[in-house]
Amino acid sequence: MFSGKSEEMIRRLRRAEIAGQRVLLFKPRIDDRYAAEHVVSHAGVRMTAVPVDGCAELVARAHGSDVVGIDEVQFFEHTIVDAALSLAASGSRVIAAGLDQDFRRLPFGPMPELLARAEFIDKLQAVCHRCGGPATTTQRLVDGRPAPYSGETIVVGALDSYEARCRDCHSAGQDSASWLAA
Ligand code: ZN
Repeated sequence: MFSGKSEEMIRRLRRAEIAGQRVLLFKPRIDDRYAAEHVVSHAGVRMTAVPVDGCAELVARAHGSDVVGIDEVQFFEHTIVDAALSLAASGSRVIAAGLDQDFRRLPFGPMPELLARAEFIDKLQAVCHRCGGPATTTQRLVDGRPAPYSGETIVVGALDSYEARCRDCHSAGQDSASWLAA
């Protein structure tokens, strides 16, 4: 979050376009924060994207592309791993961007297996909103306070907010102890 990962993916896809390759960018339909048919980075860089409901639709529509981009890949179901592998096996270069951890700092959805199966990984860092150090976690805030550990993982476009935080500045939320003991 705020690490520039969408921007970095768009940069790589643009380079492929300049090289004359067929490029398609996908995003989960769940993510309606910005323009529905674009991926827009926090810095405002945008690229046309195809919203899809799931992996089967993504694979069907990506067929024949030289380069396939997938934004917010953490929101897809676990079958996105097989989808990415089958696209790669058919000759496409697959570039996916996503959050590796949720706001509890737990691995997010299909990310662990995607990270294990990928040939190349770049972990980008944001800047901690509190101390200015390198941020590797996402702090979820509700009314300005750390969200409870037991809250829903995916709340796209809700009134709560997110901040990039470093390990030391991240707070797991007040009910984390009882949740862990349950
Ligand atoms: Zn910090």
